[in-house]
Amino acid sequence: MQLTAEQRDILAVIRDFVDAEVAPHASEFDHRDEFPEEMVAKLKEMGLFGITIPEEYGGLGLDLLTYALVVKELSRGWISLSGVVNTHFMAAWMIQNFGTEEQRRSYLPRMATGELRSAYSMTEPHAGSDVQAIRTRAVRDGDAYVIDGQKMWATNGLRAGMVMLLAVTDPEAKPQHRGMTAFIIEKEPDVHEQPGLVVPPQLQKLGYKGVESTELVFEGFRTPAASVLGGQDGLGRGFKYFMAAVELGRVNVAARALGLATAAFEAAIKYAQEREAFGRPICDHQAIQLKIAQMGTKIRAAELMVLDAARLKSTGARADLEAGMAKFFATEVAQEATLEAMRIHGGYGYSREFVVERLYRDSPLLILGEGTNEIQQTLIARRLLERHKI
Ligand SMILES: Cc1cc2nc3c(=O)[nH]c(=O)nc-3n(C[C@H](O)[C@H](O)[C@H](O)COP(=O)(O)OP(=O)(O)OC[C@H]3O[C@@H](n4cnc5c(N)ncnc54)[C@H](O)[C@@H]3O)c2cc1C
Repeated sequence: MQLTAEQRDILAVIRDFVDAEVAPHASEFDHRDEFPEEMVAKLKEMGLFGITIPEEYGGLGLDLLTYALVVKELSRGWISLSGVVNTHFMAAWMIQNFGTEEQRRSYLPRMATGELRSAYSMTEPHAGSDVQAIRTRAVRDGDAYVIDGQKMWATNGLRAGMVMLLAVTDPEAKPQHRGMTAFIIEKEPDVHEQPGLVVPPQLQKLGYKGVESTELVFEGFRTPAASVLGGQDGLGRGFKYFMAAVELGRVNVAARALGLATAAFEAAIKYAQEREAFGRPICDHQAIQLKIAQMGTKIRAAELMVLDAARLKSTGARADLEAGMAKFFATEVAQEATLEAMRIHGGYGYSREFVVERLYRDSPLLILGEGTNEIQQTLIARRLLERHKI
């Protein structure tokens, strides 16, 4: 695929940054579960928090395809770093597309610099795939809404100064989703307790470390009525807005999977040429060659699907099927590639001294997040059945 000169320049800068400052240190940060302050400062400096925000609001104004390629490169270094940007990017996209002009002017310039970073929160302890079952309530009280309820798995939930939040404003609505509204919640960053909101200590995870995932416990939290995304028109439209962002997120997760799988492949093909067994490099053994061939082929196929979905989505066309297929395929490839890379490393793959151990722990998130791959397949099947209806 032909990239523009601008896309090539941006990717070269990101690739150099990842090779010099991310990849060599990512596992140390992962093992300490430490937030990468300096790497994030560099992302801010490069303008990546405003990558898709239009220039008139202070962003770089780049398209989704460029964003997907940048996400792939960041994830090749460490998926947690792309996780710091991901929820922010989705919230900014929602404000840009569904917010009022006043909201765009108020939030996007601060988001573009990274001064204001956003989380994105719909999941609750009892409701993940079944988003319509959420219970967090927002009740109008004068010129404010009062939020009560518990959110789960809010990535960037502690350090973010803003949360794009889905809450129920009309519990009687039928269907349920018409009673849901998106709120732009401003909060104190890096604070565990503030009036009406407790952010408990971060959840302990298998991988995807460094970036925090938290619960958010709202109890009488007041947010101005003006914080309804889209203003008065946004009432009852929150579910629709969040689902549109999730579709976008799928291209993004697919790009992350591609970056992760590429990192596993690069580690494996290097090791296969360095390690010797039975008097020759292990890459001379056919069993290892089969793995290399399969990894390389599947990663290439995933790459083409991700580019196809990102390009289609960038044009504004309907891309749910392509985005869903790319997410499903690329994340399964990443899962497989990280295990195969570990097998190629033999016992050393199990050691924390080699990168494949981290890649192996990081990959399952991608098959679970942004819609599990089971749900993903049911959506793909539904669309295929519509398209091929007899
Ligand atoms: C590290 C991490 C970060 C996250 N970050 C965020 C975030 O920033 N914001 C946010 O809102 N959420 C976030 N999530 C939540 C994530 O999106 C959900 O965990 C995910 O959607 C699955 O929901 P669940 O965990 O409740 O699983 P469940 O919905 O309980 O599913 C359990 C199992 O049942 C299957 N299943 C459920 N319903 C069906 C069905 N109809 N057909 C077939 N199979 C079905 C699922 O596929 C899965 O295998 C994050 C999760 C993790 C692990």
